[in-house]
Amino acid sequence: MNRLSLVDFPGKLCMNLIVPGCNYRCAFCPHEQLIHHHIPMPKIGVDEIVKLLRPRMGFLDGVSLDGGEPFLHRGLGSFLSEMRFQGIKVRIKTNASRPRAIQYVLDKRLVDYLSVFIPGPLSKYRDIVNYRVDPNDVRRSIQIVRKSNVPYEFRVKPVPGIVENEDILEIANTLSGSRRLVIERFDPTRVLDPMVCGSEVFSRSELEDIRDSASPYFGEVFLSS
Ligand code: SF4
Repeated sequence: MNRLSLVDFPGKLCMNLIVPGCNYRCAFCPHEQLIHHHIPMPKIGVDEIVKLLRPRMGFLDGVSLDGGEPFLHRGLGSFLSEMRFQGIKVRIKTNASRPRAIQYVLDKRLVDYLSVFIPGPLSKYRDIVNYRVDPNDVRRSIQIVRKSNVPYEFRVKPVPGIVENEDILEIANTLSGSRRLVIERFDPTRVLDPMVCGSEVFSRSELEDIRDSASPYFGEVFLSS
């Protein structure tokens, strides 16, 4: 359980729930604890979450599931069904590695907003995520999300030496025609790989240049705050 947010689920005030565990190992991942040390973390049951949410539903619109990778969890379907039953809207952030799971929650109408993180261009994808993901699975996830009637966004994170301006343009080309892109900021003080700890960041004006060069490919492009 993390914080209240007005930006994760656009136009909605939501409670952010952090889901531990991820199949990727992006060097710039800010969630080292969630990736490597999640086994001893306390588990919170659906009933407990509902109990916490219910008195706040007067001013909260829903929950945002962030990770980690929520689609790795077998209990996700029943959690989402309970949220539906309780009238709680759900945003999920995913790394796009599980197209069948994404299709399932869309078919069952269990999600209200999808935020899809694309860590790198498909040509360098495996090297960036350090996992033997099938790029066709990522392509399939992108197609499924774009074809769905559920609002969505894609997210990228420029990181000097790993995800450069030209990589963002390659991703933009792959996603061309999508409605929304959010450019996340790299925090060199919170990383998975000590080798990139304290490394350079793109300046505000460099990020604005990246935003401007990606803009023609999307309905809207934002820099995250
Ligand atoms: S996909 Fe996200 S949570 Fe998973 S390793 Fe990469 S940055 Fe971390």
